[in-house]
Amino acid sequence: MSLKLQTYIKIVLILVSLYNLSYAQQIKNEPEIIVDCNYTFEEAVTGIEIPKSILKQLTIIDVEYYSFDDKIHKGQLVVNKKAANDLKEIFSFIKSSKFPIEKVIPVVKYKWSDTVSMRENNTTSFNYRNVKGYRVLSAHSYGMAIDINPVQNPHVKRNIIEPANGKYDIKKRGTILRDSKLVQEFVKRGWQWGGRWRSSKDYQHFEKKN
Ligand SMILES: [Zn+2]
Repeated sequence: MSLKLQTYIKIVLILVSLYNLSYAQQIKNEPEIIVDCNYTFEEAVTGIEIPKSILKQLTIIDVEYYSFDDKIHKGQLVVNKKAANDLKEIFSFIKSSKFPIEKVIPVVKYKWSDTVSMRENNTTSFNYRNVKGYRVLSAHSYGMAIDINPVQNPHVKRNIIEPANGKYDIKKRGTILRDSKLVQEFVKRGWQWGGRWRSSKDYQHFEKKN
């Protein structure tokens, strides 16, 4: 065999193995996961004054979910360490039941504005803020609460709806229903659902007493 032919065969063999490698990679990576965010803990808690006593109770967890595009996404929650395990388990239920969640991004992305985060239909836990309309720290301030799909599950108080672009319509995907397995998954772990409150209906909100 000529040297030229040998080199030619070598090149072809290399190309074939490269092709196989990338094909194997594709199969291995299926299904494709869309990364909605990838913060470090430090990045996720900057830009706001958080008391040290609270900061040390917090952690960041990765969660996976189907979004409204029917693809698997990876997001993150800043939560209380005591709530982390419950939320990991609940999110594995959310993923397996394909309950769609638009996105789960720490509210640092929205410069700590709950109004903007809700309007963007973002699911979040920790935010150092008061209860809407009161001078009392919210359970979100301890990472012991979560708001899910605020647009499908707004906070309704008399004629005020937050976010303003929200609408509670039980026929829409991503809406939290009273007798759903999702509510049961929270309740059986000791969480309360804001959709069961009397004074107002906070359909997006679940919290657990610290
Ligand atoms: Zn809430």
